[in-house]
Amino acid sequence: MQISLTKRTKLLFTGDERNDMADVVKVSVHGGHSGQFCCHAEDLLEEIVEEYIRQGFSWIGITEHAPAINDQWLYPDQKAAALTADILLKQFEAYMQECRRLQKKYAALITISPAIEIETYSGYESFVGYLINRYAPSYLVGSVHFVNDIGFDYSEEYYEDAVRVAGGMDVLYENYFDLQYDMINKLRPAVIGHFDLIRLYDPDYHARLKKPAIAAKVTRNLELIKKYGLIIDYNLRALHKGASEPYVTSSILEAARELNIAVVPGDDSHGISGVGNFYEEGVRTLQAHGYSTEWQLPA
Ligand SMILES: [Zn+2]
Ligand SMILES: [Zn+2]
Repeated sequence: MQISLTKRTKLLFTGDERNDMADVVKVSVHGGHSGQFCCHAEDLLEEIVEEYIRQGFSWIGITEHAPAINDQWLYPDQKAAALTADILLKQFEAYMQECRRLQKKYAALITISPAIEIETYSGYESFVGYLINRYAPSYLVGSVHFVNDIGFDYSEEYYEDAVRVAGGMDVLYENYFDLQYDMINKLRPAVIGHFDLIRLYDPDYHARLKKPAIAAKVTRNLELIKKYGLIIDYNLRALHKGASEPYVTSSILEAARELNIAVVPGDDSHGISGVGNFYEEGVRTLQAHGYSTEWQLPA
């Protein structure tokens, strides 16, 4: 009796947007980068977790960046902060311990998954395997920030460098989606981070993604994601940074829905101020594209 009353109430309120949103469970598959464990983020991890709880999040993945495999792969800001691969590995160990402490401490209030966002430079496969064996994360966020061993998302200058090394923007896209395909096959990360990040500094990305050679690779990768039952991160940090839409772009969002792939919000927070940013806007776009808000858990 109680259940049918609730259902009827919901029906009566169909069209009331505030009420629709109140029913949506708040989650993040990708986020919780903290100043404590990442030099381009802010705040203590515990403060960030407390903010997720304050905003009523039900479950979150804390997905700190993997440490650099060796000093060759340090980002400029890590070098400037005098970090080394050794220091980062120790820091990562402390990160996993802190995640597990917070997971237990706040278990009654929020479900926390200690996870890792990976990199894809040369040698990543065995290094990620090592991290999995040593730290047993709940899951991986399979992101591609490096193509042909260049961290293309670090700055516009790095992006241009990546274009030059690839031999053009189209080829860079193709290299990116090939590397992503390979990474998904090798690691089957539960979550695919910002699937189309390669368009970051490309003003013509809508047209480029429609070029047959690139579109074919996007479709191939989506089909692989579907085959393995993986989740696509609906990365809202793009909006936080001033972009006009999240990752993935609306055309890929459409294609993913046609394949029935789970797309789940990730705020990709890098501090307290990034927690839950643009959540409602993101959910509304997903709903407008016909997505269910019964979010699939990464597993
Ligand atoms: Zn980051
Ligand atoms: Zn990322």
